Amino acid sequence: MSFLEIKNIEKTYDGSGIPCLEGLDLEMEKGEIMVILGPSGCGKSTLLRIIAGLDSQDAGTVTLDGERMDSMSPEKRPVSMVFQKAYLFPNMDVRRNVNYAPRINGVLKGKELDAETDRMLDLVDLRYLAERYPRQLSGGQEQRVSLARALITRPKLLLLDEPFSALDAELRISLRNNLRAICKEIGQTVIFVTHDQQEAVAIADRIALMSNGRILQCSEPNEFYHRPNSYETAIFFGWKNAMPGTQRGRTVCTRLAEFDLDTIEPQDRDIMLMMHPQAAMCTPRGMFAGLVLEASYLGTISTYRVDCEGVILNIQVSCRNMHAVGDIIRFNIDSSMVWPVDPPKENVRVDKVEHRRNGVSARIRSVIDKVRRR
Ligand code: ADP
Ligand code: MG
Repeated sequence: MSFLEIKNIEKTYDGSGIPCLEGLDLEMEKGEIMVILGPSGCGKSTLLRIIAGLDSQDAGTVTLDGERMDSMSPEKRPVSMVFQKAYLFPNMDVRRNVNYAPRINGVLKGKELDAETDRMLDLVDLRYLAERYPRQLSGGQEQRVSLARALITRPKLLLLDEPFSALDAELRISLRNNLRAICKEIGQTVIFVTHDQQEAVAIADRIALMSNGRILQCSEPNEFYHRPNSYETAIFFGWKNAMPGTQRGRTVCTRLAEFDLDTIEPQDRDIMLMMHPQAAMCTPRGMFAGLVLEASYLGTISTYRVDCEGVILNIQVSCRNMHAVGDIIRFNIDSSMVWPVDPPKENVRVDKVEHRRNGVSARIRSVIDKVRRR
């Protein structure tokens, strides 16, 4: 049995009629950092609130360390939660905010309480601010106090709901690195919720990607960049090119080319071949030639929309290779960033790559004409 087992959770808020969580399953091991990643409104906070007991599910079970949580009141659950806003007690200094819970319920007293408070303050690097009040702290310092206050209760599970989303970018990066180091140091089991892909990848041992109340894929971060399990997952992780095709054994065939992919399971099926923009590697003798239709310069990289003999691709390459609209780019394709998935179901909106039907499309014709007129 896993340390945390969430089975078949269903939740529909009264009056909404639309399910918020649909048959959601999740398992975690002790000491693991799981990130729940997904767009706003997909049900992330609802899931955390159900685990913490702040909301109840319509069906399904939550079991932590062999103990069923479902009928346990929130304060009895061995779980702590940190929110986007710190909610510190304004009339208490940092020290008393941090040790509030064990001080009030008498779990720790006297020297033991002081020592444990110091240990937590050191962990979040705030000992030097122990006598300050919340109004004298920055947003990042407040969140570190919240974290210490949650950790001092030694929760079996720490839940964090977008704890850094109100902070500026640089601070978020340093806090997320700190958080990961702290939790690994003390072996804390964590569920961290975010809508930010980079934050998810930086913090997680595993990521559960959520959409519309379901988990689409749960795996190590790297897998999302090399083996997305569905069209929806691939799109969320920036695989911008989707080409219909067929798979025979380990060979996939699309209008762009045939790829032998030795990392895939041999099968015969219709597929959608996903290609990541960064799969393109510019080189003067590249196998593929694309006419540049659009070019965006983004500092260290550039993105291009190119027409490869009727297949329109979005590619991203480093700035050593700068090209203008109307140029021909030659490139090879890194097959580790090409991956077949099942064709998306009918209810999924699809951004397939455009295919030119007969001859040159009007749009490409206008680009070529413009270049010729120069
Ligand atoms: P997330 O945290 O991923 O942004 P939430 O779990 O907050 O998503 O919300 C998921 C869905 O449930 C949203 O459509 C939201 O409007 C709805 N919802 C959340 N809380 C309530 C509530 N108390 N009553 C009714 N609907 C709610
Ligand atoms: Mg939320």
